[in-house]
Amino acid sequence: MNKPTVTPMMEQYLGIKAANPGALLFYRMGDFYEMFFDDAVDAAAALDIALTKRGKHNDEDIPMCGVPVHAAEGYLLTLIRKGFRVAIAEQLEDPAEAKKRGAKSVVKRDVVRLVTPGTLTEESLLEARRHNFLAAWAEVRDAGALAWVDISTGEFRVMTCPLTRLGPELARLAPREVLVSEVKEQDCADIVSDMRAALTPLSRASFDSQAAEKRLLDLYEIGSLEAFGSFSRAEMAAMGAIVDYLDITQKGKLPLLRRPVLEDGGAAMQIDAATRRNLELTQALSGGREGSLLHAIDRSVTAGGARLLERRLSAPSRNLPEIHARHDSVRFLLEQARFSDDLRADLKRCPDMDRALSRLALDRGGPRDMAAIRNGLEQAGRIAEALQQTDAPDLLKTAARALIGHEDLVALLDAALIAEPPLLARDGGFIATGYDTELDQTRKLRDEGRSVIAELQAEYIAASGITGLKIKHNNVLGYFIETTATHAEKMLAPPLSERFIHRQTTANQVRFTTIELSELETRILNAGNHALEIEKRLYNSLKGAILGQSGPIGEASRALAEIDLSTAFATLARGENWAEPKIDDSRAFEISGGRHPVVEAALKRTGEPFIANDCGLTNGPTPAIWLLTGPNMAGKSTFLRQNALIALLAQAGSFVPAKSAHIGIVSQLFSRVGAADDLARGRSTFMVEMVETAAILNQADDRALVILDEIGRGTATYDGLSIAWAVMEHLHATNRCRALFATHYHEMTALSAKLEGVENATVTVKEWDGEVIFLHEVRRGAADRSYGVQVARLAGLPSSVVERARHVLDALEKGERESGTKKQAMIDDLPLFSVSNTPQTSPKPAGNPELEAALKSYIPDEMSPKDALNALYALRALL
Ligand code: ADP
Repeated sequence: MNKPTVTPMMEQYLGIKAANPGALLFYRMGDFYEMFFDDAVDAAAALDIALTKRGKHNDEDIPMCGVPVHAAEGYLLTLIRKGFRVAIAEQLEDPAEAKKRGAKSVVKRDVVRLVTPGTLTEESLLEARRHNFLAAWAEVRDAGALAWVDISTGEFRVMTCPLTRLGPELARLAPREVLVSEVKEQDCADIVSDMRAALTPLSRASFDSQAAEKRLLDLYEIGSLEAFGSFSRAEMAAMGAIVDYLDITQKGKLPLLRRPVLEDGGAAMQIDAATRRNLELTQALSGGREGSLLHAIDRSVTAGGARLLERRLSAPSRNLPEIHARHDSVRFLLEQARFSDDLRADLKRCPDMDRALSRLALDRGGPRDMAAIRNGLEQAGRIAEALQQTDAPDLLKTAARALIGHEDLVALLDAALIAEPPLLARDGGFIATGYDTELDQTRKLRDEGRSVIAELQAEYIAASGITGLKIKHNNVLGYFIETTATHAEKMLAPPLSERFIHRQTTANQVRFTTIELSELETRILNAGNHALEIEKRLYNSLKGAILGQSGPIGEASRALAEIDLSTAFATLARGENWAEPKIDDSRAFEISGGRHPVVEAALKRTGEPFIANDCGLTNGPTPAIWLLTGPNMAGKSTFLRQNALIALLAQAGSFVPAKSAHIGIVSQLFSRVGAADDLARGRSTFMVEMVETAAILNQADDRALVILDEIGRGTATYDGLSIAWAVMEHLHATNRCRALFATHYHEMTALSAKLEGVENATVTVKEWDGEVIFLHEVRRGAADRSYGVQVARLAGLPSSVVERARHVLDALEKGERESGTKKQAMIDDLPLFSVSNTPQTSPKPAGNPELEAALKSYIPDEMSPKDALNALYALRALL
């Protein structure tokens, strides 16, 4: 028998599935999105939901699972976070339509959207205070370019970017998804996965620069791209790939994209990926936002302001007038504390217009997004008025000008929408009474119908004498009269049966209808549907009015973010007692009373004070390098980082955590820490350290600020010392930059005598009764010793080990003084571990009279290195 094994529905499913490779298919069936076959198995595991089966395919059970449509967003988010891409296939017609074509007809379905990490717009899927960038990297004849877009706000940018700069730029933007041509996938895979972004290879056609030009011209409905600037082929290709991908994923519905802005790679302070990680700018080393600089200093009250702060911290400016303008407005708001507080109260009431606008443009919005625009613009007008009455500096005045001129749109939306409209337009009920007469009349008819129903119910109760009789409604029967089975007898017999027509008997209830009830139902239904249609029409015309103003609304939104960020910086400066930095194009780096904002905040919670410290890299001639020594835990890393952060904050437009600061503009910021564990990437830690250090020595120019923390730590002592030594000399002679160099190699302090631009500094500790007390004070000069043994004791090493270490240290230090260059031989000979492994039986050198006598007989001042070595051998024999 030739039984068909594929049902028409399965045929449709398989067709759609084949057309959307690489994506999990959400197949709409009524109130559920269903998944089948491997998709079902994968999704059930990822979502932790039940895997069932439905029907057979080629005689095998079809695995299936499903999620309810109303809760789909939560499931989508989980899937996207776990690295899936999801194609959403909707029903494109009413099932009734399909039935009309024949009993076996399948409802038309197709994919309406591909959900990927870089193309989210739903409020619940996005982090309000962070950008969600989709990036594309292209290469045309050896010239590279990077374009990126946030479709939830419409921001669209592009810049020249050779492959070597891709890592640092991606680190700055932290995109969720990166598009590359399939032929470049290999080159980019590691760089992209290091950034924890999804890599999406596209066909070469997506990156064709000529096709790209056409796509852009069509998108912006312009005849030439000249108006936007002049773009290279590679830049065009990168932008074109983004537009093409949006077209593919949004199925032809393009989001609202602002005109592309060509970003100047040299306009921002350059910070590479390792430095960002190290300084924990937007993410702590532990991975979360907490513990990061961004988290510690964010005082913004709007989502747009928070996103702008993230952008500024990720790309501090190198443009002096721009930086000064930003400081001017922070100072103004700091001085006008009352005004600034009022401003913040107004800003707090500003909804996220950028994202509302983009949802409306993609037809994923609703009346609530319209209300967001209305409320936002209304608030904007109020803020502009307040600002215009002050003598605010230019930056704020310019922002204020972008906030005005929306009165007509606000008036329209005010009149048209109710105060708090629903999320979706689907069920109507969002247009205000009095806005449209036809709508008001239709609604009246519909509502009157409902009160007539109530009257009818009363009448039926009177006629039948059944007090429990009710008129109800459901989707199958429409309106019906319901009574319990016990009372039904009466209704089924004349005379009542002449009026009440039996419709249905359920377990406990019997249902009836009447002619007048069905007539009334038709009237109500018609009025209800009609009202919905009118609302939908009005919705579309309001949407048109809003999108027609999308440019100015976007401008207003950006201006609000700018104002919010200025007030946030002012609030921060006031609350934390920060000072305005002096920034110029000198090579100064003078910080007095500097602090580390994150460490300080953490200490504040424990009630401990943070010790402020000065840093002066200008005193000596250029280059200016501080060599910082001091024991572990003294505060070296903290000091290094705080100075880097102060420079970064200053150029990001903020005041700084210091009493005063004078900084000559910093072009590049580098930060490296010796031997960070990087096992995840499978490279030796020392190798990583050297690769990263090499990058600095090759790239840092004389305007760079470099901080190096314990470079060389990842290898044997003498290797490490020699590398640190040579790195320092290179920084001094070749890079000629400002640098802070922390090390525990005391030998290096000798360099300050040899290199005129190097100064010693140390973090002080006090020794008291054999214990160290950390003072966390940085002063010029070299540390006298490293106190490692004392620190080990504080850390809880067994006292026998600490004791032994102290002796070994004494011997080593003595040996160093006595035998000079033969130290290595002495280290080799020291029975370090054989002794400390067996503490109970270990002979104590101090308790060995022969040894003591021999030691006393040596007069080091009179010994040659060779004598000393021989003496050491002799001593050892006495053990
Ligand atoms: P190092 O790099 O010298 O090992 P860290 O910079 O890691 O030391 O500092 C160790 C700890 O000391 C920090 O976690 C912090 O709690 C504290 N600390 C560092 N600097 C200061 C300071 N200036 N004032 C107060 N406490 C500090």
